[in-house]
Amino acid sequence: MAAKKILIRGGTVVSESEIAPYDISIEGERIVAHGDKGQFDSESFDEIVDADGLLVLPGLIDPHVHFDSPFMGSRTDHDFLTGTKAAAYGGVTTVISFSTQSKGGSVLKNLEDQEKKALGQAYIDWSIHGILLDASEQTLSEIPELVNRGVPTYKCFTTYRHANRMVDDDGMLKILKATAENGGMLMVHCENDSIIEYRLKSEIEKGNTEWIYHALTRPRLAENISIQRIIDLMKVERAPVYIVHTSTSESAGIIHEARSQGAPLHSETCTHYLVLTEDELKKENGYLFICSPPLRTERDIDTLWTAARVGPIEVVSTDDAGLPVADQTRLAEGRFNKVPSGMPGVEPRLTMLYTEGVRKGRISWPRLVSLTAGNPSRLFGLSPKKGSLAPGSDADVVLFDPDVEWTMSAENLHMNTDFCPFEGRDVFGKPKTVLSRGEFVLRDYELIGTSKHGQRVIRKLDSSYIY
Ligand SMILES: [Zn+2]
Repeated sequence: MAAKKILIRGGTVVSESEIAPYDISIEGERIVAHGDKGQFDSESFDEIVDADGLLVLPGLIDPHVHFDSPFMGSRTDHDFLTGTKAAAYGGVTTVISFSTQSKGGSVLKNLEDQEKKALGQAYIDWSIHGILLDASEQTLSEIPELVNRGVPTYKCFTTYRHANRMVDDDGMLKILKATAENGGMLMVHCENDSIIEYRLKSEIEKGNTEWIYHALTRPRLAENISIQRIIDLMKVERAPVYIVHTSTSESAGIIHEARSQGAPLHSETCTHYLVLTEDELKKENGYLFICSPPLRTERDIDTLWTAARVGPIEVVSTDDAGLPVADQTRLAEGRFNKVPSGMPGVEPRLTMLYTEGVRKGRISWPRLVSLTAGNPSRLFGLSPKKGSLAPGSDADVVLFDPDVEWTMSAENLHMNTDFCPFEGRDVFGKPKTVLSRGEFVLRDYELIGTSKHGQRVIRKLDSSYIY
């Protein structure tokens, strides 16, 4: 059977460098050509998609989601089936989730287990990052195998010592060394555990258990010190590092400084740090807004938007890690430190970044595409297949209607949860049609894809982007 030919006609295409009206020709799984409006002979296509009045974007990449993941006595709301479905509604065509090493266990074994959960259960393409809980001989010996299997990125925590998840300086140096030697990139969750545990103990002793103490016991200082620490360790063992979910205004300056001195350092923030403040924690349902690092202040939001616009922030991800509200309520027992932390967010990102970012003049459309498609593609080894509408790339395409006005709610989203961190907000724009490798996943706001479609993406880092 000849490859299906689809023409996306009459849309306004947003790339990382420009916004321009042109038509896009797709053959099978790939984009094959661009042409001036009306240039292609519509007779030669099997299907015409009318993109008049719509913005045409490369499918978004979410390089930070936690599907089917255990945490603090609970398990994340999204598995691959429900998570990739919600992602597709949000204009996402590739997700990278995590597999957590079991303490003392094999990273590869956990990775394989996680991959089995995703196979045949994904509406869109996917990949996985490892999570390393230690720097044992066995863990270090598995790093080259991870990289060879197409999983060149893995994360460590500088906190959660109480849960046996923390890697200390010693371990971090060993992992940095192995990362440099094997062509990987280390992702780091930066929060200084000692400061957090010290503060936690003293607030609990004083009987301070309200939700807001989650933010007060995980101060900005803990994050800033921890980011600086990894930068200093990189001077001992130079290797590429990606700081996940930066949330403080100071972090932008610290990262910028290190990059200007040549450190192969990258960073992301997440939608919620660009929109919400710690005031959410003062509300009755504040425990549902508990995430780590915690939500910060308006000042941080302003600085993070600037850092997203001009750097050093290169990616906006979601850290989608919502947990069942019933579990959070039950486990919380009215105490901030008992709440399993994490919020859902894989679906609303594009609409929120358009509403809060582009429409408010904080970022341009091309920059939004860089933050959510181009940069994650290059940094995580998905380029040139993903994150671009250039001929030769996968036909992962989003047709976004910028004129739809709606009120965001868990009711009208498709995430597997009845909690939405952006509940009740009046927002603009919605993905109308989404293609993944030339197949319709979403068409006219309706899901028509299947969970058999999504494939594992083998990733390989390009050192010219990482170093
Ligand atoms: Zn995370």
